[in-house]
Amino acid sequence: MDLFEELTEELRNLSEEDYSNRIKELEGDCVCPICPTYEDCGHGENVFCITKKSSCVDMELGCLCPTCPLAQKYKIGVLYNFYCHRGTEKEQREG
Ligand code: SF4
Ligand code: SF4
Repeated sequence: MDLFEELTEELRNLSEEDYSNRIKELEGDCVCPICPTYEDCGHGENVFCITKKSSCVDMELGCLCPTCPLAQKYKIGVLYNFYCHRGTEKEQREG
């Protein structure tokens, strides 16, 4: 199991409240809000690599995921990225 799979497993076992608190912590590292592709859909969406794709991004204008501290820590964001538009790391790995 790689680091990202361990994180996914950790999140999967949390209660709904603990999950949303943990996502809030991870949001501190997410650089999506300053990315040219990012669209604010009105729900404060980010951490697309883990949560789900954006409900309103429809154009890819570059992706900052490779520079994201979370991506670097968990070794994601290079092979797969544009999570807001293409789906989560898990979804992209599973093809
Ligand atoms: S890898 Fe991309 S989607 Fe995931 S937290 Fe970092 S910037 Fe956000
Ligand atoms: S997932 Fe990548 S392309 Fe999408 S907003 Fe985040 S940094 Fe930008």
